[in-house]
Amino acid sequence: MERTERIPEIFASCVFNEDVMRERLPKDVYKSLLNTIATGKEIDAGIADVVAGAMKDWAIEHGATHFTHWFQPLTGVTAEKHDAFLSPVGGGKVIMEFSGKELIRGEPDASSFPSGGLRATFEARGYTAWDPASYAFIKDGSLYIPTAFCSYGGEALDTKTPLLRSMDAISAAGLRIVRLFGDSVSKRIVSTVGAEQEYFLIDEEDFKARRDLFYCGRTLFGAPPVKGQELEDHYFGALPTRVSAFMKELDMELWRLGITSKTKHNEAAPSQHELAPIFCTTNIAVDQNLLTMECMRKLAPKYNMACLLAEKPFEGINGSGKHNNWSLSTDSGINLLKPGKNPGENKQFLLFLAAVVRAVDEYQDLLRISAATAGNDCRLGGHEAPPAIISIFLGEELEALVASIIKGKSYSKKDTKYMSLGVPSVPTIRRDNTDRNRTSPFAFTGNKFEFRMVGSSQNIALANIVLNTAVAESLTIFAEALEETVDFDRTLDKLLADTFRTHSRILFSGNSYSKEWEEEAKARGLSNFKSSPEAYAHFTDEKNIRLFSRFGVMSETEMRSRREIFFDSYRKIINIEARTMLEITSRDIIPAVSGYISDLSASINATRVALNSASVDCRVSICEKLSELLSKTYDAYLSLERAERTAVSKTSEEESAFYYRSSVIPRMDALRRLVDEMETRTSREAWPMPTYGDIIFKI
Ligand code: ADP
Ligand code: MG
Repeated sequence: MERTERIPEIFASCVFNEDVMRERLPKDVYKSLLNTIATGKEIDAGIADVVAGAMKDWAIEHGATHFTHWFQPLTGVTAEKHDAFLSPVGGGKVIMEFSGKELIRGEPDASSFPSGGLRATFEARGYTAWDPASYAFIKDGSLYIPTAFCSYGGEALDTKTPLLRSMDAISAAGLRIVRLFGDSVSKRIVSTVGAEQEYFLIDEEDFKARRDLFYCGRTLFGAPPVKGQELEDHYFGALPTRVSAFMKELDMELWRLGITSKTKHNEAAPSQHELAPIFCTTNIAVDQNLLTMECMRKLAPKYNMACLLAEKPFEGINGSGKHNNWSLSTDSGINLLKPGKNPGENKQFLLFLAAVVRAVDEYQDLLRISAATAGNDCRLGGHEAPPAIISIFLGEELEALVASIIKGKSYSKKDTKYMSLGVPSVPTIRRDNTDRNRTSPFAFTGNKFEFRMVGSSQNIALANIVLNTAVAESLTIFAEALEETVDFDRTLDKLLADTFRTHSRILFSGNSYSKEWEEEAKARGLSNFKSSPEAYAHFTDEKNIRLFSRFGVMSETEMRSRREIFFDSYRKIINIEARTMLEITSRDIIPAVSGYISDLSASINATRVALNSASVDCRVSICEKLSELLSKTYDAYLSLERAERTAVSKTSEEESAFYYRSSVIPRMDALRRLVDEMETRTSREAWPMPTYGDIIFKI
């Protein structure tokens, strides 16, 4: 274990960050690179070789032998291909080399990554291009260079490229607004993100003993345990020793990588935990969240555990999400969503707030899509996670303020509330302006918005691409109106009132988990896409294509390819799950239950002579019940098998995805109900895998 006073030294020790750049690059190169990072402008030609040389020397000193372009293809996970710095110099000798060209551009054979039909096989080449704004780092003996990934034709094949484009879009639009309020110095407006990550840790033995966990990362069978989370003793509970040791090492590893892991605690469900970093620029937050998930997965086995990032690893028990905390600030760090002491007078804040309200209302469908995955479908609407309906919670004070703006009335700010706990030795504390509404999918939390819908295993890029671009559109529309006007104040007030009025339907402060809200939301005309395919279908709606093309974030072609990939990965995931269920049923469950029935029958026969054969034997009724369930199970198995075959035979990704949703998933559910019931009636010894109770209370 590291000595704690060394943490500031250890922090980012594996990162080629600004400090290292300043130390190792010639002054002009350093300045030029910094300018590129700060402004998002193109890198000066000619400095790449110098930067590459410095990076290589630094990496080698830190034990690296290889470099890799690290990118985010549309698989949901990251990709890397490692090349040694090695270069032959004749006479059987080598030197360690790394050129500017190798830093800037990579040419991975891209034919095996999802492209949604964008990349014909005859031009299967893809390119990776260095993202200088996300620092290179060293991991497992390689220098990792964060890159964007595109096709030979220049279309984005990854999540980073549109994200960077969306950051440019919101910067340009945001600058127009702050200029109107007299800010002439800011060079860039940045969207900031802090992604809280929820996860489960279970014993590795149990993980390996269950094929559903092993193949799918979540259980597909499992009767509810006798004890769940009803005692509410896990949330913020004391950390179990093994978990605590894991978290300590994880923190150390993340700190070395420059990731500001800050908060850790037990979550609501048994075996569930959370990690939150300190927020940073969006593209870096995305990269770091992906790295965090990878480190979690890789480190767990060292402690004989498995880390589950799936959205709903156990039915009936809280699932995991990722809270995407999002805000906007100037490049000097002024938070544009900070209401200040008197939000009613802070017109710039109100304008940014209005921009978000408008964006979220206009593009509910896109936000919903950004959280739509097969795994997250099992979580959303589960009464522990937001429903599939998007709404915004502003908090009591802002809601009252917005209401008065809509009515054109003046608003008098309420006094700061203090509360005393009635214990003289405990200081009186100030109460926050907004109470937390933990049921809202999109809540204002003081100086940022928290989008709570994203799934725990997801890449958060799309959520932020949508937010950045949609808010950029609002800001652009506002800027157009305000730049032209002769009466700035009047136009501004009207703009605020009109915007809040038009989009007030998206504001909701009640219980988003309730049935009543579903009905009210429908009456308000809010969309409610209950499943991923229903949501995906709207990705290329005309207004959405218009939005992304207008800001150069995604072309129509890129959007169509993504839509296809959404459907395709959805159907593939359900396909694997269905096949896993079929395999477990026929090869584990049916043999185990039949074996148990045979054993019981044998024991009945063996004792028949001793017992009065006319008396009712409880073992007979157990056998009868189990036999009945077993036959039904086999029928459900065959029915699922048939549906699965039909689903596979469909050629269009979309049609297939919808078929999985409408016909395969209900059959999976039906099969599960039967198997779960058999579980509760079969001897512990005979059951072929660890049960929920065994797993979630073990550590
Ligand atoms: P809670 O669990 O109450 O939501 P946490 O402290 O666990 O709160 O998480 C809050 C997250 O929000 C942290 O990751 C924090 O860094 C992030 N955050 C705070 N301010 C901003 C901001 N301006 N922009 C983006 N994220 C922010
Ligand atoms: Mg939170």
